[in-house]
Amino acid sequence: MAHIGIVGGGIIGCATALHLLEQGHSVTVLERDAGGLPASVGNAGILAVPEIDPIARPDMLLSVPKWLLDPLGPLTLRWQDLPALAPWLIRLLLSARAGKVAASRAALLHLMKTAEADHVHLGHLAGISGHMRDTGALTVFDNVAARDKAFAHEAENARLIGCNVEKLDPEEARRRVPALQGTFAGAIFNDGYRTFDYPLTFLRRLQAVLRERATLLDATIASVAQAADGVTVRTEGGREFTFDKLVITAGVWSRRFVADLGLKVLLETERGYNTTFMNPSTTLEMPVFFSEHGFVATPFENALRIGGAVELASPEAPANYKRAAAMRRKMRRYVPDLQEEGGTEWMGRRPSTPDSLPVISLHPRDPRIAFAFGHGHLGLTLSATTGRHVARLLAGERDDALVPFSITRFQ
Ligand SMILES: Cc1cc2nc3c(=O)[nH]c(=O)nc-3n(C[C@H](O)[C@H](O)[C@H](O)COP(=O)(O)OP(=O)(O)OC[C@H]3O[C@@H](n4cnc5c(N)ncnc54)[C@H](O)[C@@H]3O)c2cc1C
Repeated sequence: MAHIGIVGGGIIGCATALHLLEQGHSVTVLERDAGGLPASVGNAGILAVPEIDPIARPDMLLSVPKWLLDPLGPLTLRWQDLPALAPWLIRLLLSARAGKVAASRAALLHLMKTAEADHVHLGHLAGISGHMRDTGALTVFDNVAARDKAFAHEAENARLIGCNVEKLDPEEARRRVPALQGTFAGAIFNDGYRTFDYPLTFLRRLQAVLRERATLLDATIASVAQAADGVTVRTEGGREFTFDKLVITAGVWSRRFVADLGLKVLLETERGYNTTFMNPSTTLEMPVFFSEHGFVATPFENALRIGGAVELASPEAPANYKRAAAMRRKMRRYVPDLQEEGGTEWMGRRPSTPDSLPVISLHPRDPRIAFAFGHGHLGLTLSATTGRHVARLLAGERDDALVPFSITRFQ
């Protein structure tokens, strides 16, 4: 059995660590901020199995000009970051071609088919059960034509996934989610969604298990390098650790380690914002997507989280919390009783590839090294599946179904 290092202890790193422990390896997770609030902690907490569409699609591109006109709308671009983002954006445009969209859909479908079962197994590895509620999700629409167009597409996705969708009028939607007292034209209910108890609690529980059964080391990794006797990581403080094998799971920050290892990747941040109300005065019975406005509201056991949207910007650019306020304002059109005060605002960085496919891959020239990052909007959903596949790849198993996720597509 090997000693395996994992750089980055977000949800992807933790899920990978548990699968490697299951195989009997000795595991060290190197995390610079184990108590921090990365994307894995502040996300919307939804197991979004029906979401098999890549972001880059012809219909999405048509909406971009309208969205960009609204500085607080569903999509914004920090213009001073445009030169750095340009290669990623060009590849995004190329990914919107019909053949590429179909290929990304097929690849995501493959991962989604096992996502729920993989999460049940991951829970089992960590001694957790009942952490996902069978809620389904509602999407509300401002006009019936948009609802009907979306329904046709969701019904096709549901057929592929094996879940069910229903077209609802506003009265039926309100019967299921009474807080939706504002005006809207119709809704879709999709029973393929699940809701996690709370993403922060989930990650902290996985970290606690890793503290017991593996090593969770407080370390900021400055560089990684291949050596004859293993793979070496160097911390900012100058300490060095050499492992038999290494997995890079550092979210958007993975790109610097990819470069250290002689490879390229197109990985940028789609930053998202939200507000969490603890013990909210109004809540919902299930997640509600306001997809025409690019955000979602998720009810947790003692909390309500409202957020989403995409801000293309460099990871370290200052946050613009007006975006979180804009989504609360929009939500009040649909849920007039939503409270004004007392929420906590947050910004998170989705690590995103231009074709919406995560990198789940061995290094093409060094099978001691694996990569698992770039899960964009779906990292919580796909974390358990990713961890399972990374453990298989490092064990030497070949799987042609994972070819679309290979890092070779960026070389
Ligand atoms: C607003 C929002 C809503 C979302 N909602 C959902 C949802 O409902 N469902 C879903 O499936 N997904 C959702 N996502 C996406 C999901 O949260 C991400 O895809 C996922 O969390 C990415 O996990 P990760 O482990 O790759 O990255 P991260 O969570 O970013 O973790 C990376 C870790 O690496 C560590 N690290 C980085 N650099 C170093 C270094 N040099 N040394 C040591 N450690 C390092 C960081 O500290 C961090 O802990 C959402 C994201 C956002 C922003």
